Amino acid sequence: MLKSISVRISQGTQYIKDPRQANPVGFRGKPDIGNAACDTGCDACAAACPTGAIALDPVQIDLGRCVMCGDCVPACPSGKLSFTNDFKLAATDREGLTLSASRPMPDPVKVSDALRKRFGRSLKLRSVSAGGCNGCELEVNALTNVNFDIARYGIDIVASPRHADGLVLTGPITRNMAAALELCWDGMPDPKLVIAVGACAISGSPFEGASTLDRSFLQRFKPALYVPGCPPHPLTFVCGVLDLLGISS
Ligand code: SF4
Ligand code: SF4
Repeated sequence: MLKSISVRISQGTQYIKDPRQANPVGFRGKPDIGNAACDTGCDACAAACPTGAIALDPVQIDLGRCVMCGDCVPACPSGKLSFTNDFKLAATDREGLTLSASRPMPDPVKVSDALRKRFGRSLKLRSVSAGGCNGCELEVNALTNVNFDIARYGIDIVASPRHADGLVLTGPITRNMAAALELCWDGMPDPKLVIAVGACAISGSPFEGASTLDRSFLQRFKPALYVPGCPPHPLTFVCGVLDLLGISS
């Protein structure tokens, strides 16, 4: 007994007490676009970007496409680009994910009164990997571990669509997974919501436009929340969902 107490004290608190106040060291999160003027005619960052996430004049980064590779930083001759460890990147509108020097943060997640009323005390989620690489899926798995412990907010991952209120979509939606995704969605009772997790789910990212994808599901069912990253940090997901449901941490 004493040994157990001693081990418990030496290990300290494992869970992150307030996810909104966390400071994940070494995490490459929100890009920062400085105010320095670009070199005339320069397109080095856009040329270096493997996913077409950068638009020019003025420089803008689409978090829904960005895979956080960092290649644009050394490519820039003006030192205009850098990365912070800010993980609060989720947004309720796709357009809210575009950053620029004059718009340095993603649009804040809008609290949904309807969703808060319905799911604020209990939200069960079914995860579907629609052709993902397993990066996003691993981070979704981490949501329920002792560090992030999303279940303390009444949010949990469930095995059956029949028990789910929300679909956590990862991967670019390959044609081979499109039917399975529809079957899962059809098996979920109304009301229900979609959460798009990771650059592939949000935009297709490096696979955008590939003939092997079928993204028509997202044309019919707009996500209630976009969680960018490659893969997203679990804290990005936790804080995005808490904000969406108006839950304090
Ligand atoms: S960090 Fe994002 S914006 Fe920069 S090159 Fe990589 S994908 Fe493109
Ligand atoms: S941000 Fe840097 S690399 Fe991109 S266009 Fe401006 S100067 Fe060139």
